[in-house]
Amino acid sequence: MRRGNLFVISGPSGAGKGTLVARLLQEVDDAWVSVSCTTRKPREGEVEGVSYFFKTEEEFQQLIDEGGLLEWATYSQNRYGTPKRTVQERMAQGFQVILEIEMQGAFQVREQMPQAHLVFIEPPSWEVLEQRLRGRGTETEEVIGRRLETAKLELSHKMEYDFRLVNDQLETAVQELVEYVNRFAEGH
Ligand code: 5GP
Repeated sequence: MRRGNLFVISGPSGAGKGTLVARLLQEVDDAWVSVSCTTRKPREGEVEGVSYFFKTEEEFQQLIDEGGLLEWATYSQNRYGTPKRTVQERMAQGFQVILEIEMQGAFQVREQMPQAHLVFIEPPSWEVLEQRLRGRGTETEEVIGRRLETAKLELSHKMEYDFRLVNDQLETAVQELVEYVNRFAEGH
């Protein structure tokens, strides 16, 4: 069994975090990804307890009040948060715990758990980011505009992360991320 660690994967919407995390889970046997709580409505194909734990505003507020969240943030008018207890348990069990969360949450995690490793996923260029966000075709122009504004803000903070990864060639990025995780899991 390896030593448990906490990795926070952040970066603008459209940078390809989801795909990278899915590949990381295939490559690293003891990697485990936390399932967040959100007040956002499920998108088509999303499954309760797999994609997210979908909550009402009241339920989400109760989780905050109980101290049940390691971090939480409002993003595009919805709230998102990481359940604290499962993360702590998985780390104690020796898992490489992965949080795929936005920037405000990433820095809250650093405050709470300074040993966390903060990784920033960068799109190859602004043009590619914009194309990817529009290409999804699932969001309105207003939502896309808001996400581009947020992306600008997130990119301006990239130097505060422990590790930056440009998601240009997917397989190269996957290998770099796998090496980064393994380096800490093996205690170097
Ligand atoms: P989406 O609505 O596209 O699933 O997610 C929107 C943003 O919320 C993404 O940047 C995603 O990484 C982030 N996010 C997902 N779960 C959490 C969480 O638990 N905490 C925080 N702070 N952000 C999250």
